[in-house]
Amino acid sequence: MITVQKFGGTSVGSAQRIAGVADLAVAASARGEKTVVVTSAMGGVTSTLVAAAERATQGNWNFDERPMLAERHDAAARALFGDDARLLAMVREQLDHGLERVDSLCFGLSLVRELTPRILDAISGTGEMLAAPILAAAISSRGVASEAIHATELIVTDDQFGDAEPLAAETRAKTQGRLVPLLQAGVIPVVTGFIGATAGGVTTTLGRGGSDFSATILGAALEADEVWIWTDVDGVMTANPADVPDARTMRAISYSEASELAYYGAKVLHHKTINPVQFARIPVRILNTTNPDGQGTRITFEGHPSPTGVKAITSIRNVSLVSVSGRGMQGIPGIAARAFGAIAAERANVLMISQASSENNICVVVRSEDEARVVRSLRAALEFDIMKEHIDDVTADDSIAVIAAIGDRMAGTPGIAAKVFGALGAENINVIAISQGSSERNISLVVSESDASRAVRVIHEAFALGRKN
Ligand code: ASP
Ligand code: MG
Repeated sequence: MITVQKFGGTSVGSAQRIAGVADLAVAASARGEKTVVVTSAMGGVTSTLVAAAERATQGNWNFDERPMLAERHDAAARALFGDDARLLAMVREQLDHGLERVDSLCFGLSLVRELTPRILDAISGTGEMLAAPILAAAISSRGVASEAIHATELIVTDDQFGDAEPLAAETRAKTQGRLVPLLQAGVIPVVTGFIGATAGGVTTTLGRGGSDFSATILGAALEADEVWIWTDVDGVMTANPADVPDARTMRAISYSEASELAYYGAKVLHHKTINPVQFARIPVRILNTTNPDGQGTRITFEGHPSPTGVKAITSIRNVSLVSVSGRGMQGIPGIAARAFGAIAAERANVLMISQASSENNICVVVRSEDEARVVRSLRAALEFDIMKEHIDDVTADDSIAVIAAIGDRMAGTPGIAAKVFGALGAENINVIAISQGSSERNISLVVSESDASRAVRVIHEAFALGRKN
């Protein structure tokens, strides 16, 4: 059995946590499983590196965080295998090398003062390169051979820096070539999550939180039996417990439910995690390092459909509703096409679309960080229609949230929308816009941000998703 096991930033956040991870890897090897470990950077390190890059771009040529980062990693190394001079020296060399690289990049940035996504990837992707050698050495010090490997040697991506897409065939060839011999020799490879490289060898990243995606990319490339994502919660929940205190961990969900949930703000998984394993139907488990015997959530093709249709309710904040409206829009073809073209040109992701059949208004939900750019781009692209008064204006509202009810069985189950809106109506919660994809796995609605928590709670309640039920 081959498993790819990914450990997130909190799971490798301290010497003590790394020891726990090393124990889990060693236990898997003792059970005779061939294990590939994927590690995140130690918790908080990626954000520290991003902040350093931003300050360097403002002209600060000193990598001020270097001593702190050096000490944090070195302290973990000393605590884990300080008595083994050879291991310690080896790891220190790699830590030094990684930090030196960031130092040089930041110095360069302070001179050119332009932070391109390409340079940001080179800097932000270093955190994983600092963590991997420590974890590999911790495993070795427990008597099981282990080797730290940079995913730049394995995962080949396109050159969309900051959000790179893996190239499956190339990745498969490289990953199998490099990892299979190690697995056969009983070595546990510890691979850096989050990063990859273009065919030309330039470092890319898969987007923040991307180590989950790294794990499934490698799982698919190796035709692994399972991918385990170790995190600091018990699994995927029916709602965010901050909104709904009696939210419950779901034992089993389907790939499509997991994707919808990841997309709609349940922060457990990077939103592309499921893509690589879907075709090969490799099961994914979400497990908790602080509760390793818990069952977690198992994600498979079939999942475990809920009889009521709805399995989970999520919410996304920090989004804006951008509306293009005007009575003159009726029957004029091409406005939607130009509007979406203008949004795409800004590379802004559209989370939700809705247009009423009166055609007076098209509204889209985008991340608030993209709002200003999207509005500007729409106004420019629709200038002529605004001039001719087909369109009154392009407006934006950032005081909203998107709520989504998700479940496979919603498809073909009548009455779900009625129940959702009935619950909101009974609580006097105003619904600003609605959309349901034709996959019918998701009903999304826009409400005022101040109503978001309550909206999630009442829908959760209406479908009896809570623990007490
Ligand atoms: N270290 C990266 C981040 O913080 C990737 C990850 O942890 O998944 O975004
Ligand atoms: Mg994560």
